[in-house]
Amino acid sequence: MRGLVQGVGFRPFVWHLAQQAGLVGEVLNDGGGVLIRLQSGAEGLMEALRGNPPPLARIDALELRDYTGPLPESGFHITASVGGAARTGITPDAATCPDCLAEVLEPENRRHRYAFTNCTNCGPRLSITRAIPYDRAHTTMADFPMCPACQGEYDAPGNRRYHAQPNACPDCGPQLELVDTAGQPVSGDPLDRVAALLKAGKIVAIKGLGGFQLAVDATNEPAIARLRTRKRRPTKPLALMLRDMDMAAEMVVLDGPARDLLQSWQAPIVLLEGRGGAAPNVAPNQARLGVMLPNTPLHHILMRALDRPIVLTSGNISGDPQITDNSEALQKLGGIADYFLLHDRDIANRMDDSVVQVIGDTPQILRRARGYAPAPLQLHEGFAKLPKVLAMGADLKNTFCLLANGRATLSQHMGDMQSPATQRDVRHNLALYQKIYDFSPDHIAVDMHPGYFSTRLGEGLVEVTHVQHHHAHIAAVMAEHGLPPDAPPVLGVVLDGLGYGDDGTIWGGEFLQADFRGYERLAHFPAIALPGGDKANQQPWRNLLAHLRAAFGPEADLRARFGPLPFLEAFEAKPLKMMGQMIDNNLNSPVASSAGRLFDAVAAALGLCFERQAYEGEAAMQLQALAETCLLDGGVYPVAIAEEIAWETLWTGILHDLSERVDANRIARRFHNTLVKVVVQNAFSIAENRSLETIVLSGGVMQNRLLFSAIEKRLQDKGLKVLAPVDYPANDGATSLGQATIAAARMNLH
Ligand code: ZN
Ligand code: ZN
Ligand code: FE
Repeated sequence: MRGLVQGVGFRPFVWHLAQQAGLVGEVLNDGGGVLIRLQSGAEGLMEALRGNPPPLARIDALELRDYTGPLPESGFHITASVGGAARTGITPDAATCPDCLAEVLEPENRRHRYAFTNCTNCGPRLSITRAIPYDRAHTTMADFPMCPACQGEYDAPGNRRYHAQPNACPDCGPQLELVDTAGQPVSGDPLDRVAALLKAGKIVAIKGLGGFQLAVDATNEPAIARLRTRKRRPTKPLALMLRDMDMAAEMVVLDGPARDLLQSWQAPIVLLEGRGGAAPNVAPNQARLGVMLPNTPLHHILMRALDRPIVLTSGNISGDPQITDNSEALQKLGGIADYFLLHDRDIANRMDDSVVQVIGDTPQILRRARGYAPAPLQLHEGFAKLPKVLAMGADLKNTFCLLANGRATLSQHMGDMQSPATQRDVRHNLALYQKIYDFSPDHIAVDMHPGYFSTRLGEGLVEVTHVQHHHAHIAAVMAEHGLPPDAPPVLGVVLDGLGYGDDGTIWGGEFLQADFRGYERLAHFPAIALPGGDKANQQPWRNLLAHLRAAFGPEADLRARFGPLPFLEAFEAKPLKMMGQMIDNNLNSPVASSAGRLFDAVAAALGLCFERQAYEGEAAMQLQALAETCLLDGGVYPVAIAEEIAWETLWTGILHDLSERVDANRIARRFHNTLVKVVVQNAFSIAENRSLETIVLSGGVMQNRLLFSAIEKRLQDKGLKVLAPVDYPANDGATSLGQATIAAARMNLH
């Protein structure tokens, strides 16, 4: 058996089944997975395993072969591992299982209210792993020798904690401690005290599974405002932790797969329609709330001591990843948190909460970390024989990818590479993953962008392939859907922020005919200046200026043509002349065919984030949320569908609507509808011309579900097959997967 079959209780599980069926044989770990040797009864056992594997296991392949070697005389046994048991890697961290939760809540149990309870079916994994093979000595549990009771569980094949490496109890395991900002212990039961402090409006830093979190009462608006001010996070939505499914049903709309996602052992943050119950400043200008259920005993006990939801956001200082170390937390979060809930188990690997949204009946991962990484993706078998590739990803939402033996293993989301702390994380995780998977690359794949830190990190190691950013976006989706390395070309439609093009300009609204090996750029959004370079990414009014100049020319008098538009006053206060000269003379004004910056420009015209956006994608997210409040279809702006996509008539329509005082949500909706129409008609006519049957949709802008679902549906209605991101993000978090598969497929040519 191959897949996620080691460290998930597979051998005792097989042992149980074999005992019940009276089979004779043995089960062991080997280099490729789990090996079962039997005298007879293999078919029945395989069927039972396929139908109902252990909770955390994932069987990718189950092969049956004749065996003529020695076997036990009688009975069924778990025997010692052979042949380097490490190769199948480490499983993701898993949320508390129902059995462990029941023990924690049972007053008579020896683990009653014990915050670090776990078993083979749940608990920490990658976050505590320092080295391989995965046993206690190589985890941050090494400092906690098991007491006789725990050791007894660990040694008994029939026990739920057989070989559960992080097994612990109050007598032998990690302990909680509550301290104030001076590091002075606060007396009383730590979790009861934290609950009381939160109810009193205090901000508490909590050492969670993969890093520090900041908690505050989610119904207390002034307390949340204090957290926002101290954290310098004015508007970015904050995630909530809800006590249980009853509270979830009250606070969010539980459509489609939402229930299953929330209760899954991955326990991600799920973006769901809010029904009220949280303070308005939790997610300003957003229709959806990011909610999760408790995923460790610590969080379960805390939430049960509270009668309300809490904000639970990452404990970091702006731009940096989450803090994982007690003393660093006291030092760096001292100005944010009022109290610190610490414990004495180290976090070996930083792990953010994962984020998932739901589009119709389909979950779509936006951030892939806790619960998902490092579970590998089984690629099409055609990748099995290809060289080993390490791909370095992009600089935003960085992940890296190891491709070997037909499997692609993505690191957890690590964040933005401008931060030296993230760069350290990437180096640390690279070394760890290479050890865990006994991996040394034949080849490295990097982005084409010469300025990317991730590109420079990858260059100079072994032979390097440079991969175009949007080609990588497309290949990631092809890989996820199991396409072979020699698959025929698809039409990739990538609506994205910014990515380096092969002509030295910046791309981001692309129609590429692509297979794994290459691509051809068939159409794209018009290239519009980014006045001020990076500043244009943060200040949407700059994109508005550039778009209006491109649409109406440098001399246009908008006031004369459209009358007093609502944004004109703020606009005319800007240094428009100087900006115009910058654009005309190409001074710090690179051009970009970006879909993301078009959203920013339209948002600015409607007064959303006109001056600046506080986080990447804020303007576009607000524009989407506004459009979703328009219940009418709203119509479209006239846009000529020609060889070249152009936005003149789009802008004429928007400014005309603004001058007529049409509701902003209707304009936002019309803009979305127009974009859908342009994309669908272009995609359809290109697909027809080129006889392409499959369309791949990707790029960060495709996370906009209003846009995405309309595009997907209309293309399907036209008889095209649409492939879209599901388990790997549409954003830059999956570009490493695309880079790796492209590099591997290219090498197959030689
Ligand atoms: Zn458990
Ligand atoms: Zn113990
Ligand atoms: Fe991108």
